[in-house]
Amino acid sequence: MLDPYYHMSDGRQIACYVNMETERDIDAVLQQKVAGVGIFRTEFLCVAEKGVPSMERQAQIYTALAEKLSPLPFVIRLFDFGADKCDLLFGKKNPFGKKVSARGVGFLLQHPKILQDQLCAIMRASSIGNVRLLLPFVSSLEDVCMVKKMIDTIKQKTKKFSLGAMIEVPAAALMADQLVQEVDFLSIGTNDLVHYLFGLDRNQASAFSKDIVPSLRRVLQMVVCAAKDAKKPLILCGEMAAHKELLPIFLELGIESFSLSTAHLSAFKERMQALHVIERAKSSMLSPQRVRSR
Ligand code: PEP
Ligand code: MG
Repeated sequence: MLDPYYHMSDGRQIACYVNMETERDIDAVLQQKVAGVGIFRTEFLCVAEKGVPSMERQAQIYTALAEKLSPLPFVIRLFDFGADKCDLLFGKKNPFGKKVSARGVGFLLQHPKILQDQLCAIMRASSIGNVRLLLPFVSSLEDVCMVKKMIDTIKQKTKKFSLGAMIEVPAAALMADQLVQEVDFLSIGTNDLVHYLFGLDRNQASAFSKDIVPSLRRVLQMVVCAAKDAKKPLILCGEMAAHKELLPIFLELGIESFSLSTAHLSAFKERMQALHVIERAKSSMLSPQRVRSR
């Protein structure tokens, strides 16, 4: 099994995380050498649980997973529902009917009970100490501020944890310098970012074409600079990280943490081995020492 940490010849340290979709994935994750879970796609719980699980059930699931992973970081992403994702997840049995007009955090702000329950459950699990909370589909500062306000109303009963924003739509990338001021870390979702930047179908978004490189590079550079200027961690999530033509570009842009599904991990690790890796590194961008607690 190849190591999850790499030290590049220019002195930079690169960490490899994994994307997780169901509770069952935890065993596969623990068998892999990874720096932690870069995204737990919680919406997939609703398929396994046949609907949105109660606050208690979610707290039980998140806590058990956080305990198993501890001390590795566990990034729990809020439910990313929304028209296209619901079709993907539920097909014709979409529990929200046709009333899905926003994705990710936008959807959750329209459904405050679902949001409140999930925040409470994650905050309970945060007592383990390795939990990070990630907001999907942030499209404005307002999105982040509204969730933070809700967190503040619940916070009295919980421990500290860090908060991240996903950059998955061009609007978020354009505002990255301001968004980063409101959170502890940024996470770039290449699957959706490429889909929304280039008008590609989501299923096609991970297909590589040289035509996307110049504009993708420019957008990523904005986000990387925003995180670097604010001295906050940035992670790139999505299967594109394993692409042999794109990985060198991501590294050249200064991205140091990557998260991929288990199916793409070995391709990523083999590519990293081939790219000027001189020795193993020891800690990661999302490790407790490097993520400021809220
Ligand atoms: C992404 O958009 O790249 C991402 C990681 O989120 P998801 O694939 O779950 O939409
Ligand atoms: Mg996404």
